[in-house]
Amino acid sequence: MRSGHADRLRRALLFGRLPAHAGNRRHPLPAGLCEELEQEYCWVSMRSEQQVAAADGSLKHLLRLHDGEAIEAVALPGTTAPSACLSSQVGCAVACTFCASGLHGVVRNLHAHEFLEQVVLLRRARPLRRLVLMGAGEPTHNLGNLANALEVLRNEGEIGPRHVMVSTVGPAAAIQRLAELGRRFTLALSLHALDQELRAQLIPTQAHVAPLDLLQAADAYAARSGRAYQLEWVLLGGVNDSNAQARDLAAALRGRRVHVSLIRWNPVAELDQLQPSGVAQAEAFAARLHGAGVSCRLRLTVGGDSDAACGQLRRRAQLA
Ligand code: SF4
Repeated sequence: MRSGHADRLRRALLFGRLPAHAGNRRHPLPAGLCEELEQEYCWVSMRSEQQVAAADGSLKHLLRLHDGEAIEAVALPGTTAPSACLSSQVGCAVACTFCASGLHGVVRNLHAHEFLEQVVLLRRARPLRRLVLMGAGEPTHNLGNLANALEVLRNEGEIGPRHVMVSTVGPAAAIQRLAELGRRFTLALSLHALDQELRAQLIPTQAHVAPLDLLQAADAYAARSGRAYQLEWVLLGGVNDSNAQARDLAAALRGRRVHVSLIRWNPVAELDQLQPSGVAQAEAFAARLHGAGVSCRLRLTVGGDSDAACGQLRRRAQLA
């Protein structure tokens, strides 16, 4: 195969096409070569085993990996810049007490090609221009493989760092490592609580981390990248959704280059001691932030959708 063929083939595969569609009218790949490539090689090591559409237009894929493990990837609604939320690990070691993905710890990191294959499979159904690394796993626990995959997408997959958001729970050193990659990814900081004791209850593996240190590290990242960061706050009824907590959060964010993403918690069957914030309380929380001049968006989520929470579809597949 000539190097021009290889370039076109690699690029076509990143856009979800098969070898037969790798060439164009002026430079088609030889028909015999296409046939051989499709018969002799496995181009994608994972398969989309189940797809669940939500009322908000997102499409969640349960992806079966070559070793039998499963992950989730979600094509998100949006017409201007179609986006997707990808997983970075099988399971998650962070074990947030409200999340299905961390219920049984981490199984393994995804390889670089497994990040790319999530993009490839989702692109077979829809175009994809933006990525959010906010699915199962903590991206900074698998930063090397993630960075390698994102470099391929930047060079050949038409998804540059400006169109990538990487989420982390911290600690500050993890945000620093992300900054040291020297790419201008948007940072998403999963904070969920300002009070260290409460955050330790929600994320016991981060009990030693002071939330204000995380905000300072995120500020430093924003200054270096030139991009505002996003602050994630999962609203749990009676836990972190009070008016006083909204007021304290607004005060802590004054003067910071941050956008707050409020998400009403999606119930997880095994975590029945928790409940989502009531709609009125979630709206009041958002209104307080807005009123204090904080940029913020509330996602009420789709309460009626089964398997809406991150990791639920995989969990159900494990139990089947
Ligand atoms: S919320 Fe994110 S970091 Fe926490 S356990 Fe779930 S996947 Fe891991």
